[in-house]
Amino acid sequence: MTEKNVEIAIIGAGVVGLATALRLASDGREVLLIDPNEPGSGASFGNAGTLAEYACMPVGNPAVLRALPKLLLDADSPFSLRWTALLHLAPWLLRFVRQSLPAATHANAVAMAGLLADSLPAWEEMAAEANAGDLLRRNGCLYLYCRPSDLAGGASSRALRAEFGVHQKVLDAREVAVLEPNLPPVTGGGLFFPDSMNLTDPALLMRRLLDAAIQRGVAVERATVSSLKADSAGVALGGAGLNVRAKKVVIAAGAFSRPLAAQAGDRIPLETERGYHLEFATPAPVLTRPVCPVDLGFYMTPMAGRLRVAGTVELGRQAAPPNPRRLALLDRGVRQFFPALGQPSSKWLGFRPSLPDSRPVIGPSPGNPDIIYAFGHGHLGLTLAAVTARLVGDLIADRRPNSERLAPFAAGRF
Ligand SMILES: Cc1cc2nc3c(=O)[nH]c(=O)nc-3n(C[C@H](O)[C@H](O)[C@H](O)COP(=O)(O)OP(=O)(O)OC[C@H]3O[C@@H](n4cnc5c(N)ncnc54)[C@H](O)[C@@H]3O)c2cc1C
Repeated sequence: MTEKNVEIAIIGAGVVGLATALRLASDGREVLLIDPNEPGSGASFGNAGTLAEYACMPVGNPAVLRALPKLLLDADSPFSLRWTALLHLAPWLLRFVRQSLPAATHANAVAMAGLLADSLPAWEEMAAEANAGDLLRRNGCLYLYCRPSDLAGGASSRALRAEFGVHQKVLDAREVAVLEPNLPPVTGGGLFFPDSMNLTDPALLMRRLLDAAIQRGVAVERATVSSLKADSAGVALGGAGLNVRAKKVVIAAGAFSRPLAAQAGDRIPLETERGYHLEFATPAPVLTRPVCPVDLGFYMTPMAGRLRVAGTVELGRQAAPPNPRRLALLDRGVRQFFPALGQPSSKWLGFRPSLPDSRPVIGPSPGNPDIIYAFGHGHLGLTLAAVTARLVGDLIADRRPNSERLAPFAAGRF
């Protein structure tokens, strides 16, 4: 097998790897994108499709911490645990608990709000580059509260978002009905995020990003990177049928990035929050924007020709099979709003790449500036992919003083 020499190799062709490849190619870099699977077929395929610029509240926060024992003990809660994985997950869970205390939550929210503020402009720019503007819809996003007490319970989240200038508007039941007339009456009212955007088809966006990247010269290699070794001349990547030498490597392998970072000498507490989706064919759209019944922990997102119901968290390892109980939970949940839906046309399990502080890892390995991390975006990888690509592009081009901007996302923080 001959050795392939490239300027930049990107490991992983999910939305983060694809966006980064396009960004770097637009900067004139030579890029090789490596992934054993169809590009964009991982978590980036099946998500809820929201570009959620408002979502600065970390997953770990005081309200979740208070509810955690109840949530984890109830297999049908929106935040559940596969008990067989408890021992493996214990160190992550301990960190998650610490990150859910008030001061840590606030620090994590500040960090995320900084990234999220640039997320939509970055996507608009990238969508234009990828000829994908038609797949982005700016129609806001709606939270629903089934009980009035749920709306009251969200006061601290609203205050936090207000602190960062997020536009949000509390709605009464009548105003919710005006926005989404096909919903049954909701007694608790809603919360509207008018600036938020969504995708009409995440898989098609992945295709357009890939096509645009290839048009700009990005090469794609179908292989699994299993070894990563750095020396003074760059980084060598190996695997079955793979022998690549790159000046720089970007690790963007989503929930599978941990062992690659470990080979670079960095112990990063990356785990996965498993999530599910169901899709239902809808000859005419039943909603006009993503709608999230907050207590159920999923989004109902209108997509081309279908309604996608995506979300909930199941802590557990990647290898465990899909849990039919979690899919049944989504099915029951969506029928509270749309009882006449037919049978689901597709079922899906995906792996959010999650850090206990809800912040991604973006930036160089502390031990080697030629290895750059871009993973761990948790619930917000779609939202943050374009802005992450911009940061990685700036870092590689040494365009802006990045160290302060990237400090909250440094690999060395653990
Ligand atoms: C149910 C659900 C709903 C969600 N909803 C939203 C939402 O509405 N909005 C939002 O912003 N985010 C959402 N997310 C989160 C979002 O989907 C993820 O954060 C994002 O897709 C992660 O992208 P990624 O590129 O890091 O990972 P992935 O898309 O998983 O891509 C990683 C790629 O790396 C490849 N890979 C792995 N190991 C190797 C290796 N050793 N060598 C080479 N390649 C490798 C994989 O094959 C894969 O293609 C949701 C997630 C889930 C599960």
